[in-house]
Amino acid sequence: MFSKRFYSSSSKMISQIKNQNLIKTKGFINGQWVSSSSNESFVVTNPALVPKNEAVIETVQSMTEDDYNKAIDYAYDSFEKFKKTTGRYRSGLLLRLYELMIENQEDLAKLCVLENGKPYADALGEVKYAASFFQWFSEEAPRINGDIIPSANPQNRILVLKQPIGVCGILTPWNFPLAMITRKVGAAIATGCTTVIKPASETPLSALAIAYLAQEAGFPEGTINVLPCKSSSMAGKLICEHPKIKKVSFTGSTGVGSILMKQSSSTLKKLSMELGGNAPFIVFDDVKDIDKAVQGAIASKFRSSGQTCVCANRLFIHESIYDDFKDKLISKLKETVVLGDGLKEGVTYGPVINERSMKKVREHIEDATGKGAKILFGGNKREDLGANFHDLTVLGDVTTEMQIFNDETFGPVAPLIKFKSDDEVIKMANDTQFGLAGYFYATDVSRVFKVAEAINVGMLGINTGAITEAALPFGGIGESGFGREGSKFGVDDYLIIKSCVLGSVDV
Ligand code: NAP
Repeated sequence: MFSKRFYSSSSKMISQIKNQNLIKTKGFINGQWVSSSSNESFVVTNPALVPKNEAVIETVQSMTEDDYNKAIDYAYDSFEKFKKTTGRYRSGLLLRLYELMIENQEDLAKLCVLENGKPYADALGEVKYAASFFQWFSEEAPRINGDIIPSANPQNRILVLKQPIGVCGILTPWNFPLAMITRKVGAAIATGCTTVIKPASETPLSALAIAYLAQEAGFPEGTINVLPCKSSSMAGKLICEHPKIKKVSFTGSTGVGSILMKQSSSTLKKLSMELGGNAPFIVFDDVKDIDKAVQGAIASKFRSSGQTCVCANRLFIHESIYDDFKDKLISKLKETVVLGDGLKEGVTYGPVINERSMKKVREHIEDATGKGAKILFGGNKREDLGANFHDLTVLGDVTTEMQIFNDETFGPVAPLIKFKSDDEVIKMANDTQFGLAGYFYATDVSRVFKVAEAINVGMLGINTGAITEAALPFGGIGESGFGREGSKFGVDDYLIIKSCVLGSVDV
């Protein structure tokens, strides 16, 4: 934590980061730190201190169309060499980068708190989680194998080569400023691809710190390029339409994902889309331990103040245990919730990211209460703490007509919905176009299989509210996107399969 003596403003706080080399404000192109060709810049603010003056953390260069075009050219040239390197060599690079992230974990966590607002313990967890993707993909890099397939023609052999796809455009959100980058870059580098990265404009400092560590780890010039930019629509369009970029990986909202898909259609790019969710969290009447389900609900709903894409968005509780669950949930929240600046001792929950997020939280609460929902816990904006703070909130008597049932809140509101039967709750859980994560608590084995098979999502937590790790194939279905990140499948999105038929084999 920062010493109390200096704990007065974001800029002073940043000066307390031990390894000051991690603080970069220029773009990173072809191994060089470069200013924007227009010299334009934008400010990065600490969401916990908004709207006070001391919210400004840093001023970062905003890279232009010209800068992007140059970076893509460099990444393209770099790819021609990098694709020929061995998996073992790329494994070494990734492992070194993993080690450097771990060596700098405390500084990286502080930086993450400053620009994202999450509590320090969560940020430290994110650094380790983010680094684990470099470790994981360092292990995958030497094991990317092709295949030999017997042909119908006895004189032929079919050889399957797996090759890197090329330059990858990577667009990431602010809610995991480190992990959303490492999950994509780890896989890209493991396969021999090069990258051009547009980080979220709320959180570019974490991305630039990773670029610095990649430089320290000895990554060849042009393999990792990071271009902060205040115009995401310009950067997104350019990346999606550029013929030298062969793949785009995006994490963010479904609305933006759909724009990027349209823009990518002219060059038919391979795409990975990690988009929004509307996760059901179901507690059945045969739940073994209601306290554990409550813990799982808190972890899954309120982590990062409800701003993770796998957050529970709708909590379905069987009517026979509804009151018990509700009472336990509220008493646990009363015991554990300390809202505040993530770098202050004892704080367990931070702010939402910005005004737009606050607006959505308020809209969901007001719409629900207007239609008969009851506020069981919290319910208010906390301007006493700052413009972006909102109580962790629990709503009771929520129904399917309410906005919060149909739309991802991406904020700290837990709507409780009663149900009577398995079929009814499965129907309600699947009543959405989204399908990222889902959770349920049950004991009966037949019910576990029935529900697991019936819920339309890409990832399910069964008797747990925490599912993410590098080994998990992460991704959704439906309007939550496609492609899988992490796990042994994570490299597939960055590879092409080339089939070679070897003829005249005379054996
Ligand atoms: P968002 O508006 O889609 O923003 C995400 C990123 O997209 C930001 O970096 C933003 O850049 C960029 N962006 C915005 N408009 C763009 C455009 N026209 N072209 C190219 N890039 C553009 O999402 P958000 O509301 O900030 O984040 C929350 C959403 O992301 C939620 O729906 C959540 O579920 C989803 N999410 C999904 C996952 C997953 O793995 N499935 C993970 C995290 C978040 P600027 O910030 O620079 O404008």
